[in-house]
Amino acid sequence: MRRPMIAGNWKMNKTPAETVALLTELKKIQIRNKAEVVVCPMTVSLFAAGPILKGSDIRLGAQNVHFEDKGAFTGEANVASLKELGVQYVILGHSERRQYFGETDETVNKKTLKCLEKGLKPIVCVGESLAEKQKGITNEVVCLQTKAALCGVSRMQLEDVVIAYEPIWAIGTGMTATAQDANATIGAIRRAIREVYGDMAEKIRILYGGSMNDKNASELMSQPEIDGGLIGGASLIPEKFEKVINY
Ligand code: PEP
Repeated sequence: MRRPMIAGNWKMNKTPAETVALLTELKKIQIRNKAEVVVCPMTVSLFAAGPILKGSDIRLGAQNVHFEDKGAFTGEANVASLKELGVQYVILGHSERRQYFGETDETVNKKTLKCLEKGLKPIVCVGESLAEKQKGITNEVVCLQTKAALCGVSRMQLEDVVIAYEPIWAIGTGMTATAQDANATIGAIRRAIREVYGDMAEKIRILYGGSMNDKNASELMSQPEIDGGLIGGASLIPEKFEKVINY
């Protein structure tokens, strides 16, 4: 049995003070199912978030990390610092980072390996563009991205990895993949992982992300391959995020 995960990607929203206010609201949510809940504020807001979440059922995640331990990498944050702030998960390879900040399969892989070596759990994002979907190459694209991200990850480490399938055309657009399509693509990702890791593929959680919200969460979550959601916009609104959490 894979434990479902509902993770909120706050993107570049919520100052430290606003983070405290939103987390104070989110902590009031009664988690009625077994979902593991994660929130990923901006890097500068993590310092404020850590103490608020201490002892709560909500785990802290980051939106990015560097693959080196320390050094001349102006503007970056390392794994050790995130861990000190209470971070347990980190989103890697989000399509916005691939599109605007030069993230590649190679850097996603380096970051995945560094996180696993140092004890942070990566949430690795993969997903096809609209053009790739229209060409009918969704499965090829997401399976290649997945295998590239996992290159060098041991069987033991695999259990700490979470994959998020996020069709780029569905992110922030209000267009969601149908539950059946999302389930089929996630099934293809799991088969690709099985080719390398055998039965361990059954243990890895694969989330869906892309305009998932309070209205469509329960249908998406009823699919057998979908182990959770990575939620952008709806994770910033407590009433909506609560409904997603208790899908
Ligand atoms: C995301 O940014 O990971 C995301 C899924 O955003 P949204 O839910 O707003 O589409």
